[in-house]
Amino acid sequence: METFVNDDRGYQKWIIRNFHGFVLHQASKTSFVLHKAYCDHIDTYDDVITKKPKHCSLKRHELTGYARDISGKQPDQCRSCGS
Ligand SMILES: [Zn+2]
Repeated sequence: METFVNDDRGYQKWIIRNFHGFVLHQASKTSFVLHKAYCDHIDTYDDVITKKPKHCSLKRHELTGYARDISGKQPDQCRSCGS
C-alpha cells in the first residue's frame, strides 16, 4: 500500500501505472471510501487532490483491512465504480 498526501504528482503517476488498482480515500480520521483507481468520483473537490490522504494498492483487501484497523468497520463503497 502506498499513501499519498499533498503529492498529486506521485498520486497521478501511481494511477496511470496501476489503472486496475484501488484507491482508498480518507475523508476524515475514521471515514473511508473505496474506489477503483480509474473512478471519476475520487474526491477532487480540493485544489490539491491528495489534500486528504489517498491510500493506493493493487490489492483490495489490503485497503479494506487498513480501513477496518483504523475505523473498526468496512470502508464505504463508491456508488459510481462499485469497488
Ligand atoms: Zn468510485
